Amino acid sequence: MEYISNIMKLVKEKYPIQHEFHQAVREVVESLEPILKKYKKYEANAILERLVIPDREIYFRVTWVDDKGKIQVNRACRVEFNSAIGPYKGGLRFHPSVNPGIIKFLGFEQIFKNALTTLAMGGGKGGSDFDPKGKSDGEIMRFCQAFMNELYRHIGANTDVPAGDIGVGGREIGYLYGQYRKLTNRVEGVLTGKALNWGGSLVRTEATGYGCVYFAQEMLKEKKEDLEGKICTVSGSGNVAIYTIEKLQQLGAIPVTISDSKGMIYDKSGIDLALLKEVKEIKRASLEEYAKAKKSAKYTPISKYKKDTNPVWHIPCFAAFPSATQNELNLNDAKALLQNGCKCVSEGANMPSTIDAVHEFIKAKICYGPGKAANAGGVSVSGLEMAQNASMTPWTFEYTDKRLHQIMEDIFNNANETAKEFGAKGNLVVGANIAGFRKVADSMIDQGVL
Ligand code: NDP
Repeated sequence: MEYISNIMKLVKEKYPIQHEFHQAVREVVESLEPILKKYKKYEANAILERLVIPDREIYFRVTWVDDKGKIQVNRACRVEFNSAIGPYKGGLRFHPSVNPGIIKFLGFEQIFKNALTTLAMGGGKGGSDFDPKGKSDGEIMRFCQAFMNELYRHIGANTDVPAGDIGVGGREIGYLYGQYRKLTNRVEGVLTGKALNWGGSLVRTEATGYGCVYFAQEMLKEKKEDLEGKICTVSGSGNVAIYTIEKLQQLGAIPVTISDSKGMIYDKSGIDLALLKEVKEIKRASLEEYAKAKKSAKYTPISKYKKDTNPVWHIPCFAAFPSATQNELNLNDAKALLQNGCKCVSEGANMPSTIDAVHEFIKAKICYGPGKAANAGGVSVSGLEMAQNASMTPWTFEYTDKRLHQIMEDIFNNANETAKEFGAKGNLVVGANIAGFRKVADSMIDQGVL
């Protein structure tokens, strides 16, 4: 369709080296073809042009002092994409690989994901090329304070509400929030993922992982299958991976893999969750520590990975949960999963599968939950945290978990029904993208040319 190819041309011309952003835009706009053909109002109102160019991109320098007294300088940004249905909302990523293309792919995805949650949240994302690994608590605190010295003027409880992502967990949110409060003298729900004593929500820590498993359950229910007793593979070993494993184990499934940036673990007897939490949440160590403590665990360092493969996806499984990072599952990996009988892929990470891997899953008609639907549990409970902050009323774990579960069911049903409506039964990529797009695009049209 000409409109779609023109949009891809525009994105590549305006942002030539932002490859991850091109990939995310392509994945969305190509699946929108049925709705763009049916309703000409979207092209007439230049909706795609207004979605792929963010409302604003704020780039800034962060200057801080390390433990040796040396001045360090990092780059940082906040990209506010779209606020048609609510305040900009999306995480902050601290990782040396962070660049504008990565932040923009994440922010673009966030627009549609947030629209799917049924809550009032727009899309945004931010971060820095700061590497938290190996830094002392004091260094992390000074970096976060310096980061907030600039960010605070752009955010607010009804304007833009950041949260965590890779490299930004409870500790970082604490330092960021403290500095915001100090600078503005305001106590408000300006960040989510806060600790319980100062405005956090129960279930936020667990939300993305639990939600991703709830989504898998919904997909499998359609095919009269479940997870009980089934072997599952999980990548990553951070927040999303840990709570995916926790929920899988609660349901009687057997997760057998985890990975980090240095290697992977295959533990035939099932992942030891307490040990994993100790290694990753408390010691912040490499997974080699896990292998040293557990005999049944086989550790493969990244230097031993075969070219162009992620060995996690070559372990036979019934269901796979990519929960580390973008493009960690390629066509080779997708083929290996399918050959080994995998029936379900539910994405905890953002854009973990390459476009050709996604096509392979769709072609094979397995249950495939794209990240923007399957991992929306995190931002959903962030939305519930904002609701609790606004009403100054904390909710119980059971109530919040029930709300999360209901939201994941609603997201599945919305994506599934929308796919049917547009002639793509069972294709949740088309369903999720169109459902999210329609809500945002119609809101933009209602509000005029802005
Ligand atoms: P964490 O920082 O808690 O964990 C990230 C994990 O992925 C770590 O185990 C890390 O290894 C590993 N990892 C990071 N980069 C690579 C890489 N290049 N190769 C292999 N492993 C890597 O982040 P989260 O768990 O929060 O986030 C994971 C994914 O989920 C991201 O894509 C994020 O955008 C997405 N997501 C997160 C949400 C949340 O609520 N946290 C919500 C929705 C999506 P190491 O320990 O060595 O650093």
